[in-house]
Order: sequence, then C-alpha cells, then structure tokens
Amino acid sequence: MAMKELHCTLLVIGGGPGGYVAAIRAGQLGVDTLLVDGAALGGTCLNIGCIPSKALIHAAEEFDKARHFANSSPLGIQAMQPAIDIGKTVRWKDGIVSKLTGGVGALLKKNGVKTASGWARIVDGKTVEVEAEGGERLRIRCAHLLLATGSTAVELPFMPFGGRVISSTEALSPQSLPRRLVVVGAGYIGLELGIAYRKLGSEVTVVEAAERILPTYDEELTKPVMAALRRLGIVLHLNHGVQGLTEGGDKVRVRSAHADEFALPADQVLVAVGRAPRTAGFGLEGLMLEMAGRGVKVDDQCRTSMRDVWAIGDLTGEPMLAHRAMAQGEMVAEIIAGRRRRFQPAAIPAVCFTDPEVVVVGQTPQQAAEAGTDAISSHFPFAANGRSMTLESTEGFVRVVARQDNHLILGWQAVGRSVSELAAAFSQSIELGATLEDIAGTIHAHPTLGEAVQEAALRALGHALHV
Ligand code: FAD
Ligand code: NAD
Repeated sequence: MAMKELHCTLLVIGGGPGGYVAAIRAGQLGVDTLLVDGAALGGTCLNIGCIPSKALIHAAEEFDKARHFANSSPLGIQAMQPAIDIGKTVRWKDGIVSKLTGGVGALLKKNGVKTASGWARIVDGKTVEVEAEGGERLRIRCAHLLLATGSTAVELPFMPFGGRVISSTEALSPQSLPRRLVVVGAGYIGLELGIAYRKLGSEVTVVEAAERILPTYDEELTKPVMAALRRLGIVLHLNHGVQGLTEGGDKVRVRSAHADEFALPADQVLVAVGRAPRTAGFGLEGLMLEMAGRGVKVDDQCRTSMRDVWAIGDLTGEPMLAHRAMAQGEMVAEIIAGRRRRFQPAAIPAVCFTDPEVVVVGQTPQQAAEAGTDAISSHFPFAANGRSMTLESTEGFVRVVARQDNHLILGWQAVGRSVSELAAAFSQSIELGATLEDIAGTIHAHPTLGEAVQEAALRALGHALHV
C-alpha cells in the first residue's frame, strides 16, 4: 500500500496523560496537532494504571467492609457473609475505563486534534512513520515532535512475565482470584494491589529487597501502613530477594540477606519492582538524544538535546506520576504556541493509595535538614480529630514542615484514611507560598479531616487547640 503523507505543526507520540493533555492544550491554542498511539487513548494511567487500580482498591474495600459487618460491627450493623463475583467487578472497572478513554477521544476531537491509531517509528526529528489501523502506512512530517511514550513494567530476567508470573496489568483484570499471591516489591504497586487482593480474600505474601516497605517514604509515615499489613494478615519478608520459580513452577524461591533460602507456594506472583521509561523499539535511539539514567534528558521546558524534539512524562524518568506528565504536557503545548513557561513546580504531590493512604508534598523534616534549612515540624494525630472517630479510623497524622525564621511552609506529609483528598490543600499552600500563620488562621470546616491540617500548623506555632 502506498505511503500517505501528512503534515502538522505538533506531532505527539503517545496518548497517555502526558501526550493527550499536551494535544488538548495545543488544540485549544490553535496549534495544528496530530496524536499517535498504538494502543488505547489514555495510556497506562487510564487503561492499566491509576484508574483501574483505584477501582479495584475501592471494590476490595467495600467487600472487606461487608465481611466485617458479617462478623461483628460496633456500629450495630449485621449482614450476611458476602460473596464476590470478580468477573463482574472487572467489568465494572472496565466500564469506568471505557468512559474515561472515550472522553479523552471526544476532548481531542472537540479541540481539533487529529488522531492516528498505530505504532509510530521515528525516522528523524521531523519525520515519523506509522503503520495505522487497517494496514494504512503514514509518513508524518512535523515542526515539533513530542515524545510521550511512557514506561513499562520492569521484568526480573530470571522470572519473566508469563504464566503465573504477572505484572500489574494482569493483576488489574483477574479472571479469578488466586488463593495464594506472592508480591515481589513493597513499593506503590506491590502494596496498593497486595492490600486489595488480601481484602478480596487471597493469602498475600510480600517479598521486599529493602529493609522497609515504601522505601522512598520516611519511616514514621510508613509505620501505620506496616501495622495495617499485620492486621490484615499480609506476610512480609523484608531484606529478602527472589531467585525464580522452583522446578515445578508453583513456588517462588526466596533468599534472605543472611543467605537463608526457602520457597513460597504461589498460585500467582505479582512482580512490582519498578517501571522503566519506554525508549526502545520505535527508533528513538536513532535521534541519539542525551539520556539521564534510563530516561530521556530534558531541561526545565522539557526540551531534549535535539532542537524541537520534546519529551514528557514517564519517558523522562522519576517521579513517574500521571499529574507530573499532565503538567509537563500542558506546559510544552503552551511553549510551542508561543507562551513563556518553565516547569518549576514548588512541589509535586505523591500519594500512595494503601490502607491507610500516604501523602507527601514538598520537603520532609529530614530533607529540610539535609538542605541546610533551619526548619520546624509538627504533627497532629487523627486520634484527636472528631471526624476520624466518626469514620472509625483514628490512626495516622498530618505533619507540617516550615522554615524557622519566617514560617514559610516547606512540606506536608500525612498518613491515614482518605488523606489523599488532603493533597490539594497541601499543594496549594506550598505553591501559593503560605506560612504557618496563613493555615492556622484559615477557618477549616468542622468536623473534617482537614481540621488536622490547621491543627498541625497551630501546633507548630505552639498553640494547638485540640491536643
Ligand atoms: P503512559 O501513560 O505510559 O502513556 C504512553 C502511551 O504511549 C501509551 O498509550 C502507549 O501505547 C503509547 N506509545 C508508546 N510507544 C508508542 C509508539 N511507538 N507509537 C505509538 N504509541 C506509543 N500515577 C499517579 O500519579 N497516580 C496513581 O495512582 C498511579 N497509579 C498507577 C498504578 C499502576 C498499576 C501503574 C502501572 C501506574 C500508576 N501510576 C500512577 C503511574 C502513571 O500511570 C504514569 O505516571 C502515567 O501514565 C505516565 O503518563 P505518560 O503519558 O508519560 O505515559
Ligand atoms: P516502586 O519503585 O514504587 O517499588 C518497587 C519496590 O520493589 C521497591 O520497594 C524496591 O525496593 C523493590 N524491589 C526492587 N527490586 C526487587 C527485587 N528484585 N526483589 C524484591 N524487591 C525488589 O515500583 P512499582 O511499585 O513497580 O511502581 C512503579 C511506578 O509506578 C512507581 O514508582 C510510581 O511512579 C508509579 N505508581 C504510582 C502510584 C501512585 O502514585 N499511587 C501507584 C502505582 C504506581
């Protein structure tokens, strides 16, 4: 079939949160934009990441709650033992995914963005070829090339994906629930999904190479999560590595830091040891871009080392978070449309949707000390918050970090039920340059978890009211 030639100002490779947001914003600003994706619009985030994982976590929480009501509940609620039809749960999750990915398609169309479905191959910095759906071959020439190809799950070479060894993608669409699930890696995915599977009824064992769970968060924050793992009956092997499946393929060989070896029976093994930027298989090497570790190196405008070639999102390395990809995408579109922008956020929030949830925005006390800042920090426990008591979840706390001299807020951390929803208040206060006095002097609605935010600031100023 003859090659069809197309021209555009901006060509975006990848329709994940980075790429599709860039394309929408560029379309809004009148930039002639074409977006190519070989898979479904919405990328990892909408199809096999953020959204489906949060849907499964919610379903697991509801099921767990129903089981508690069937045993004994201090609330006086009594229910029958619940059952779960996991096929139906997955179909419900898929329904949310299709609604959202369909919405992305509609938004792109509404803003005049052209789309092509197919895998792109880079010819040079201004030319890309696509084997489009139906065998049609496209050659696209562009003034600006935006790379937003995302990331893929890291595979353990001695235990590749396949059969009972699965990645988060398969774990998010179970056909049935494994009786025994071994999770490798106690990071974001391992714990979010490990906890969900436990609540759905699987026996879950987590093997983590580091000496503690969620090693990127400080220990005080992860303690309530550790306690929850114990309460849920999740078995944890810290300081342990996996070595592969046993010969029969039904056990995982594990080795401790002291060289003790044993085998864990497993119907499924979820490997969640990180994600790596997707840089191979589509001609990216040919551009010979400067790299930063495994990701493409970009400056504070997301420009790569080649003129008019841009990169955003997971392809550019850590932190691999959807909201960072979106913010970068929006900025690149504005720069291409002629606006002056830089990617200099005061902080990028990170939320781990474990039970309890963890939120980190800005600097921890340790990071402030390492930066040589004279900082004060203070925390307010949810045990002293009325709303937490009415929600039966008094574990956890909110912590604030501020400069000693002018009380400028440098960071917030929280762990507890539903604290993900506090991320907006935390980020806004840091981005707007709030001081402890600003937060302490803001009337926070009662009774809400947000009162703990105000109380943490009050406590840092030496006059908390409720502790
Ligand atoms: P992606 O979303 O990976 O999109 C890249 C797109 O590029 C894909 O659609 C792919 O098909 C396409 N593509 C790649 N190569 C080509 C090519 N050659 N031609 C055409 N198309 C191509 N982040 C959060 O912030 N919060 C969360 O709660 C969260 N939960 C997660 C849960 C899981 C299980 C996983 C796996 C990830 C989670 N993440 C979360 C991370 C988040 O999904 C990513 O940070 C985000 O999707 C990155 O966006 P992106 O646009 O850079 O890339
Ligand atoms: P991760 O980096 O969060 O955790 C990987 C864990 O595996 C670490 O604790 C690491 O010490 C451990 N590990 C590495 N090699 C190991 C080995 N051989 N044996 C045992 N343990 C080993 O990675 P992830 O959980 O795969 O998630 C990937 C990325 O996806 C995250 O870094 C994050 O950027 C993104 N994500 C974000 C969210 C969220 O924002 N809520 C949720 C899921 C995923």
